[in-house]
Order: sequence, then C-alpha cells, then structure tokens
Amino acid sequence: MKRSQYFIPTQKEDPQDAEIVSHKIMVRGGYIRKLAAGVYTLLPLGIKIQKKIEKIIRKHMDKIGFHEIFMPILSPSELWKESGRWDVYGKEMMRIKDRHDRDFVLGPTHEEIVTEIVRKNVKSYKELPMCLYQIQTKFRDEIRPRFGVMRGREFTMKDAYSFDATEEGAIETYTKAEKAYNNIFTDLQLEYSEVEAQSGPIGGSTSKEFMVHAKSGEDLILACKCGYAANVEKAAGIVENPSEDMKDMSAVDTPNVKTVEEVADFLDTPKEKIVKTILLQVKGKILGFLIRGDREINLDKLRSFFRTDDIDLALEDDIVKATDAPIGFAGPVGLKVEKLFADTSVEGMSNFVVGGNKTDTHLKNVNLERDVQVAKFIDCAYCQEGDKCPKCEELLSSFRGIEVGHIFVLGTKYSKSMNAKFLDENGKSLPFQMGCYGIGVGRTMAAVIEQKYNKENGMYWPMKIAPFHVEILPLNVKDDKVRGKAEELYKKLISMNYDVIIDDRDLNAGIKFAESDLLGVPYRVVVGRKFLESGKLELLNRSTSQKSDIDEDKLFENIPRA
Ligand code: ATP
Ligand code: MG
Repeated sequence: MKRSQYFIPTQKEDPQDAEIVSHKIMVRGGYIRKLAAGVYTLLPLGIKIQKKIEKIIRKHMDKIGFHEIFMPILSPSELWKESGRWDVYGKEMMRIKDRHDRDFVLGPTHEEIVTEIVRKNVKSYKELPMCLYQIQTKFRDEIRPRFGVMRGREFTMKDAYSFDATEEGAIETYTKAEKAYNNIFTDLQLEYSEVEAQSGPIGGSTSKEFMVHAKSGEDLILACKCGYAANVEKAAGIVENPSEDMKDMSAVDTPNVKTVEEVADFLDTPKEKIVKTILLQVKGKILGFLIRGDREINLDKLRSFFRTDDIDLALEDDIVKATDAPIGFAGPVGLKVEKLFADTSVEGMSNFVVGGNKTDTHLKNVNLERDVQVAKFIDCAYCQEGDKCPKCEELLSSFRGIEVGHIFVLGTKYSKSMNAKFLDENGKSLPFQMGCYGIGVGRTMAAVIEQKYNKENGMYWPMKIAPFHVEILPLNVKDDKVRGKAEELYKKLISMNYDVIIDDRDLNAGIKFAESDLLGVPYRVVVGRKFLESGKLELLNRSTSQKSDIDEDKLFENIPRA
C-alpha cells in the first residue's frame, strides 16, 4: 500500500474527550472517527485490524466445533418478555417501535434470539451439544460511554451460545470454550488473566472474565500467588479482626458527625472499629446490612445472594421509620427491620462504634450477640488488597484490567423461561443446559494499544493483527537513489507475501516518524542518509524497540514470515 493513496486521516491533537491512550492513538492515528457519544466509524486501519482479530477468533471457535451464524440486530420485544429481561434489563437496552407501534429491541446480547432458533430447530439429544456463534453489532445505551471503542453504545461483539443435554455436558463445553479463549488471547500476544466474575444481567451461576493487564483498566482484580484471581465485584477475601475483652456500651454525643470519616476523626478511632448500618429494600422488604467502616457495600454480591435485581437503597421515609432518627445516624441497636445481615468483615469485631438511631448520637463499645443480633453473616462488601486469599490465606494483591471476554455457565435460565426443550434418550422432554461466551472485538483492539503503546517507542501491533507487517520509510523521496531503493524493497517484500506500506509522501522526516509511531507496524525499514553514505538500512523491530543498521542482504532474514 502506498501511504499517499491510503486513507489514514491523522491529526496532531488528542480528541478533547479522550482520557486513555488507546482512544488518543486511535483518533490521532486515523483508525476511528466519532459520530456520536459511544458511536464510531472504523476507518481503513481500524477495520483492517478488527478483521484480523476476528480471523483469530473464528479460527479458535471453529476449531472447538462452534458454527458461525449471523442473527438480526433487531428483535421483537415478545422474546425479551418471555425471558423476563424486557423488564429487568433497564435503560441500557435500546428499544424502538416500528410503524405499527410494536416494540423492538436493538440487541445488547442474543440469548433470547439464539434460544428461539434452537427451540424451533433442535429436537433431540442426538443433535447436542449445539454450539453457535456470531460476530455482530451490539447496542447498549451505556450510562457513560467513553474511552472510544472501549465502551461504546454500538460495538462489535463475538457472542457464542451452547446448548447441552446435561449439566456435565454444559461444563465440558464451557471448559472447551475457556481453552479456546486462552488460545485467542495468547495468539493476540496479550498479557491477561482469567478471573472469577459476577454474572450480571446475563445470569447463570458460574462465570469468568478475561482481563487484559493495563493500568487504565476499569476493573480491579484481586489475585493471589496460589492462582486465585477474581474481579473485585466477586472476590471473597478473608478479613480478620483482633479479639478484645468486651467493654460497657455507652452513648456519645457526636454533633453533626455523620460519615465514617467524620466519626473516625471525631472519636479518634480507626475506620476498622466502626460499623456502618445500611438499609436496603430487597424485593419490597426493608433489610439492614452491617459493614465494617473501611468497606463499601457490594450490591452485585447481594443481587446474586438474594437472586434478584430488585435491590435498591431504602427511601428516606423507610429509614426514618426503621431508626426513629434522621438520616445519618442509623445503627443496629434497636433497629426495626425485617432482618439484619452483616458482612463477613464484621465477624469477630468487638467494642465497635455504630450509629445511635438518634440525632447527633453514636454508640461506643458495641458487641455482637450481647448488643446486636445478626440473622446471618454474608459476603456483601468489596474486599481489598491485603485481605486473605479464600483459597490459601496468603495476602491478596490487586491490579487493574480491561475485560475483553466473559464466559458463563447459564444453566436453564433461558431454556426454562422460554420453554426450550429437547427429548432425551428416554423420550423425556428436558430444558437445554446453556452456556454463553462473549468477546468485545473493538475493546480487544483498544486493549492491545493500552498494553503495547509506550511513549518512547510508540505503538507496536503484534504481527498477527498488525495493519501491515513492514513499513518502508524513505526519508527524502526527492532523492532518486533513496526513492529507487525504497520502491525496490517495497516490491520485493510484497513478492515475499508481506503486507507492506511505503510512506512515499514528500513530507519532513519528523512528521513521517511521528506518524509511523502511531501506525505501529512491527517492522520498519528507514531508507535515509545512512543509506546514501554507507548503503545501510535502519531496521526497527517494534516488539523489542531494537534498531539496527544492516545491509540489504541481511534485511530479509531479520523479518520473520508473517
Ligand atoms: P462491562 O462490565 O465492561 O460493561 P459487561 O459485563 O457488560 O462488560 P458482557 O455482557 O459480558 O459485558 O459482554 C461481553 C463482552 O463484550 C465484554 O467482555 C466486553 O469485552 C464487551 N463489551 C461489553 N460492553 C461493551 C461496550 N459498551 N463497548 C465495547 N465492548 C463491550
Ligand atoms: Mg456492561
């Protein structure tokens, strides 16, 4: 490809809304352009890389026996009503009406649609497992679309679905998909971790996320040397509290002191000695939750514990009723709620501080059992670095990641609600055991940039997904010798089956180098002054950032076959 004839509209300035490097590079380097918040066009470079990522995904999905299909983006609301997600998916689901006033959904995911296809067309256990996938556009009206294609409202996802006869069969298929995912992200040369995850609105019991290691990642992962790793949304670290002899409980005046920070300051006590009382409405009931002062409540854990999405903060009226006090002073002693739960971080605490259910009052030296009866200890707070690993009790450390893939064991969530059944070998009608498996294709592309870009050496695309394998950079195209050599190399490399780009534009060297760093082609050959002086070419290997001056006859052996 001749750079002068290609469409790579580069720009010098970072886009105003860009917070992370991949967003900046993709816009400045001419990979993408924004149309609206979270809605992007992939320009030639962007689509070229995306197709290569898709090729790797297809290779590994095909290998494990998944068949590619292509489902519609538009789906009738009836299917979503059958599964129950019409009501629970919320504002993230884009809904439209047709000219007959019928409701439709722009698919945020495709469980309902694929289940409709399978329930109509697969009848016998003999046809199972049935495994299908597609690479399709998804719509999610994200509350905060940002980071370019990383969190779009319209984005490309590879989504796959499996239908098995038995639970064991479903786990086997899930394990196969897990291996395929590992092969995909290894092929993409990404450093990543597989972590335990919450299932969210997709549902099911077990799920794992694939996290690309990157400081800019939105997800926090807690991990242990023993191999345990979990998204903080799911991680279950063990918290320890020192044991002490019980002291007498007493009320203290705490004028205008409400938050944990204020209480800690005012009473000169660590947050670990304070217990917060949080009131939530869960399926219409007002329940209390005690959490250690240095922790935050994790609603995702509560959604899975209570198996419902119907969980929200209690309304002011309900809080006042339960505490007989204005907001800010709720405490467990004398609290009027249906049930009082406590996070496991509270277990073993003694002589702690709580709200006094009275204006400007807290209670000191409160103790479990003597002063507070808890119905059950449950894991309902975010754990933290330094908590103990639930598997081996070593200390957990944390790092940031970008979620590029998510795999789920779904069980019969969709097959039961949508009455999708097959006949087993005894002629018995049973619901399919399902699994589903997603990869954000555009997000993966951005994640590669987050991981492979560095300020000094620019971008580096791994060979298998690079937009080009080799870039030829003649520095002064007006010089016949330079231009002649560059064109000769260009033709030769093409004849060797490399995908080559030559920057044949008559521009100053500084601009050409800067744009080359945005393009990130893994091998760059500079034909410049050194060539005129000594016949040497400069080869840059972007994967190692190593530059070497070499003779032409050594060039080809230094560029691996694509
Ligand atoms: P997140 O927590 O980041 O919103 P999710 O859990 O909602 O992700 P899934 O429903 O598991 O995502 O979707 C499968 C994959 O699709 C994700 O692992 C991610 O790579 C990608 N994905 C999800 N939402 C977006 C988005 N708004 N833009 C781009 N890719 C996305
Ligand atoms: Mg999401």
